[in-house]
Amino acid sequence: MNSHVGTIGNASPLVADADPMIDPFGRAVTYLRVSVTDRCDFRCTYCMAENMTFLPKKDLLTLEELNRLCSAFIAKGVRKIRLTGGEPLVRKNIMFLVRELGKRIGSGLEELTLTTNGSQLARHAEELYDCGVRRINVSLDTLDPDKFRKITRWGDFAKVMDGIDAAQKAGLKIKLNAVALKDFNAAEIPDMLRFAHGRGMDLTVIETMPMGEIDEDRTDQYLPLSELRADLERQFTLTDIAYKTGGPARYVEIAETGGRLGFITPMTHNFCESCNRVRLTCTGTLYMCLGQNDAADLRSALRATQDDSLVYAAIDEAITRKPKGHDFIIDRTHNRPAVARHMSVTGG
Ligand code: SAM
Ligand code: SF4
Repeated sequence: MNSHVGTIGNASPLVADADPMIDPFGRAVTYLRVSVTDRCDFRCTYCMAENMTFLPKKDLLTLEELNRLCSAFIAKGVRKIRLTGGEPLVRKNIMFLVRELGKRIGSGLEELTLTTNGSQLARHAEELYDCGVRRINVSLDTLDPDKFRKITRWGDFAKVMDGIDAAQKAGLKIKLNAVALKDFNAAEIPDMLRFAHGRGMDLTVIETMPMGEIDEDRTDQYLPLSELRADLERQFTLTDIAYKTGGPARYVEIAETGGRLGFITPMTHNFCESCNRVRLTCTGTLYMCLGQNDAADLRSALRATQDDSLVYAAIDEAITRKPKGHDFIIDRTHNRPAVARHMSVTGG
């Protein structure tokens, strides 16, 4: 049981024992994704509207506060932290948090990683490695610079390529993430596979999820990955493998390239039964499921006292509300997203 002991006067906080997080379905929560900002220097058409209203900066937790919350999660059994966003590398002074969390690797934390659009990677790659980061995900939906500009609206393909080069040179292992979009990149996936595997990177394809209002019709873009897989099987030999990275992807090996391809299929195949994740936003809101609206406020507990016992209690209460799974449905009649918030609030 928890013994949530408070501070007495000005005495140093008494230690509360932090129980591991086990949800009502017996799943242990060991993976925390942290959206360090909702802002981004791209406006990917499937992720954001062009004119987005972002959170006022005053509502954000400081990086020190985020670090404290992450430490509380590590005390409660989190072994892997992924920084995401928005674009994590556009948050001012983000390397402070990376460095602080990096110090926890080997003492509680097993892995610190991040998901990035790659735009700022060239200038941060070496420092990321120096802080203990060893693997990162870079989102890349096309190899064509014009199409890249179209899908990201504001992105510069050459900069992302420079970022990938710099990251590999620094020793970071990269996995590329591509959202599969029917008329946009479905035909390009074979080339992207060859490119990724030719450079020693895994590739993961993701089904587009109905999150947040965007300027386009999502049903036009949606491509079930079962279709993509059937298509790839006409050109490549795919073998299912047990490889896991702690996330929801299911992997195959491609005989012709010798590399791995991951499928993330929130829409066609529900992967929730083995969910080990929760998501923290930059305002200290905890989402227990990417595909549900229910959330818990950790900021009040964090700011109430320097003693982490209130934070532990708030986390414990939140975990009792972790749902069995999501129920993303594209509302085809009204073309409304299943979840009102954008992916950039909670990260991928
Ligand atoms: N800005 C960083 C990036 O793009 O890698 C991190 C945040 S971004 C929200 C994380 C991942 O979510 C990206 O790989 C992106 O392609 C994916 N994503 C964004 N909106 C999505 C949606 N509606 N459905 C599926 N994936 C989405
Ligand atoms: Fe930005 Fe990533 Fe969303 Fe693209 S997917 S707009 S890069 S947060």
